[in-house]
Amino acid sequence: MSGGSNSASGSPATGSPASGVRALARFRAVAADPLAELAAAKERTGLMAVGYFDSYLPEELIMAHGVLPYRVAVTGREDLRSGEFIQGFACPASRDLLDQALRGDLVLLDGALFTRYCDSLRGVFAVWDSEKLTPYVDFVRYPTVTNTVSAVKYLAAELREVSARMAKALDAPADERRLLEAAAACNRKRALVAELAARRASRDLALSGADYLAVLVAATTMTPDEFTSELSALLAWPPPGEPGDALPVVLSGTTFDNVSLAASIEAAGLYLIADDLATGSRWYGVNVETATLAAGEGSGMYADPWEALAHAYLTRPPCSVKEPSSPRADHLISQVRRSRAAGVLFYLTKFCDSEQAEWPYLRDRLAAEGIPAFMVEGEQKGAGSGGLQTRLEAFREQIEMSGDEL
Ligand code: SF4
Repeated sequence: MSGGSNSASGSPATGSPASGVRALARFRAVAADPLAELAAAKERTGLMAVGYFDSYLPEELIMAHGVLPYRVAVTGREDLRSGEFIQGFACPASRDLLDQALRGDLVLLDGALFTRYCDSLRGVFAVWDSEKLTPYVDFVRYPTVTNTVSAVKYLAAELREVSARMAKALDAPADERRLLEAAAACNRKRALVAELAARRASRDLALSGADYLAVLVAATTMTPDEFTSELSALLAWPPPGEPGDALPVVLSGTTFDNVSLAASIEAAGLYLIADDLATGSRWYGVNVETATLAAGEGSGMYADPWEALAHAYLTRPPCSVKEPSSPRADHLISQVRRSRAAGVLFYLTKFCDSEQAEWPYLRDRLAAEGIPAFMVEGEQKGAGSGGLQTRLEAFREQIEMSGDEL
């Protein structure tokens, strides 16, 4: 592994080995306390902030209004306040998000945007709206089917409508030039995350899975330009670190923000070398076409920036809440192949119906490819239990004993 190299995105290497160490420390600090990062960003910029909860919400929509986007990460804290408002079988991740608002942790948010993602988050939206947990709250009626031209047209129209409502509620009009600039800035940061993932997968850069997750959390809680600058430093000067003889596996699931849980998974002798997460590899491939739009030429198929935005988000590998399912399975298998992982660890969040329904299909597709897969169910809380460690160690030993070469 060499330091000081140019990144694949063409950014020249600047700084020194210490800048890579500093960048990693910054990402760890942001993941440990993303709200402190939000407070600092608001203080520094004087801008309003709008929160969102799933990676289908285009942060560019928020930035087009001159407002800071902030993905509310799952904290993993124990809190039962949400129990008064939503049914007990809502998933713990969605309850965690609601608990944060009910505790008053999210007072820095001037607004919140939900999408039609899953039933649990729809329940959270209903409570958020009725309890007025932020001054402004809105809902993007996202299509469930993602692979049609009419879905793109529908979503673009919906994004325009939400934008108009946001402009009125926050007294912050959007403009298309700012939308294109936002898309370009977000494209840059997503491309750098993709580069980080590719270099980890090829063993060119050994960053633990826990640290990689910290980068993912920081990617949607820091301002894009600041994040890009820090990640450029990390890529140019990656701190030393080797996974040793840990077994490389792909982590598959929905949103996964729990860095300490990832660290305990890796303490069982696994190395999270790649991912199939909603906030990871199913997100960082989003690329909004901006070059021809900025020149006023249109992209041929989508000549309007809102349609370009809708197209980019709808053509990502779909989450289990969307249809069809096969592109996700293809994507997961490609993550295994390109990282030469020994298997897949599927993390099922308790009460997550869509993931529960998708797991047997993914398991069968992986089995047909001869890829070992293991499912653990949990609440995304704390650092996991001793029982989890034991089961993961058994999974590792089973693969090691089988001696299968992929
Ligand atoms: S884990 Fe599943 S149920 Fe919970 S918020 Fe995510 S998609 Fe929805």
